[in-house]
Amino acid sequence: MVATTGVIGGKRWALAKSLAALFVEADLLYPDRSRASDGSIGDPAHAARDSDHNPDASGDVLAADLTDDKAHGCDADALADHLVAIHDQRVEYVIRNGQRAKSYGSNAWTWRTYTGVNAHASHTHISIHDTDAAKNDTSPWFPTQGVDMTPDEVKAAVRAVLNEGTATGQTSWAGTSKATLAAIQANANRLAALPSATKIADAVVAKLPPSASGGITKADVVAAVKQALSEGAG
Ligand SMILES: [Zn+2]
Repeated sequence: MVATTGVIGGKRWALAKSLAALFVEADLLYPDRSRASDGSIGDPAHAARDSDHNPDASGDVLAADLTDDKAHGCDADALADHLVAIHDQRVEYVIRNGQRAKSYGSNAWTWRTYTGVNAHASHTHISIHDTDAAKNDTSPWFPTQGVDMTPDEVKAAVRAVLNEGTATGQTSWAGTSKATLAAIQANANRLAALPSATKIADAVVAKLPPSASGGITKADVVAAVKQALSEGAG
């Protein structure tokens, strides 16, 4: 596990909460992934130059390196492309395999050749903005699973979240198996893509065979989903 807090030069440092969440999410989604190139605080070589891996004045580290391990599902290229594609508002810039995309300037959110010290071939580097919003936003980093769900999947996802809490309740998950956590995280990601009963209903309606639509309106499905949510797991 990559270090998320410590002491350097006699001063306390901490990886920004949002970036610590990135590693938690990666571990939950890809439990067997390699951590070989994971990084947070800079090594002495970093300390000698300007790097977001060095703590800022308030002790916050605003950069993270995530190991690329496609064999175990953790596709750091796909993550880099995703963050750039959605203009993730936490991101200041991303470096991946000799390319950098900045979130600002005339070529914002465009991959350009990067000629820095490290080409970042084995990991994706993410620097975030030095703002409270960027540091504290722990919403999912990885692409969500999409909304192509069967009604049973919707039900299972709702149950899992109601029973187990959401992705922010990590500490209460102690003792839960990694497989269960991964399932909860996957479900939480799916639900995050479905912020309202209306959207859940859309996914359900899309799955109904044409013959079933007679007599069932979208309002019926919305009402059913809302009722199921208010009743809790069952
Ligand atoms: Zn880095």
